[in-house]
Amino acid sequence: MTSYVFPAHDIVGLPVAGTTERFPVRRVYCVGRNYAAHAREMGFDPEREPPFFFCKPNDASAVVAVAPDQVGDLPYPQATANLHYECELVVAIGKGGSDIAVADAPQHVFGYAVGLDMTRRDLQFTMRDAGRPWEIGKAFDYSAPVGLIHRAADAGDIGHAAITLEVDGAVRQSATIAHLIWSVAETIATLSTLFRLEPGDLIFSGTPEGVGAVVRGQTLVGKIDGLSVLSVKMV
Ligand code: MN
Repeated sequence: MTSYVFPAHDIVGLPVAGTTERFPVRRVYCVGRNYAAHAREMGFDPEREPPFFFCKPNDASAVVAVAPDQVGDLPYPQATANLHYECELVVAIGKGGSDIAVADAPQHVFGYAVGLDMTRRDLQFTMRDAGRPWEIGKAFDYSAPVGLIHRAADAGDIGHAAITLEVDGAVRQSATIAHLIWSVAETIATLSTLFRLEPGDLIFSGTPEGVGAVVRGQTLVGKIDGLSVLSVKMV
C-alpha cells in the first residue's frame, strides 16, 4: 500500500439524485462566452469571438448545498471587491473519449446539475487586459459550487430548459439552454479535440446575460428546469 508524506487529499465526491453513491470529480472545465447576449455584455461580438475553454481546480466544486430546501454557505473569497455570479448548466461526463463526434456526445454524458461559475471580476479583467491567464479571477477556492447531479435520462429536455438566477428573490439571469452558442454536444465534441475527457469531468457550459456582483449576506438561487435548485448564501 502506498504511503504518503502527509495524508492524501480526499476525492471530491458530489451527490447524485436517487442514490447514495457519489460522482467523483476529476477535472472542471468551463466554457467562456457561450451565450451571445452575455458575450455582448462583456464587450465582445459573439459572431466573431467563438467560445473558448478554461479550467478550475476540482476541489473548487465542493458541495455547499444538495437539496432544494437547503441553503449552503459559500465563503466570500479574499482579494476581490467585485465577486460575480454566473449561473450555468453543468455537464457531468460519465464516459471518456478523445475526438468525440457531435452525434456520439450524448453517450458520454452521465448527468447534469446547476452550477455557479463564481468570478473575481476585478482580477479577471486585470489579467485579461494585461493578456495574462485568468486563474486568479476564476480558479479560487469554492469558485465552482455544483448542485445535486441528475442522471441525463431523468433531466428531461435539458437542451430547452429554462435557466434562472435569483439574488435575494430578484431574478437577475433568465434564459434557456437553447440559447447556447455551442450546444452541450458541440461543446463536448470540441473540448475532446483538446483534452481526453474522462469519467468524473465536469463542464460548466457558460452563462447567459445578467451577470452581476454579490456581497456577503446575499442568497443566490440557481434554477434549471428538470434539475434540483442550487441555493447558497454568501458568508
Ligand atoms: Mn462562466
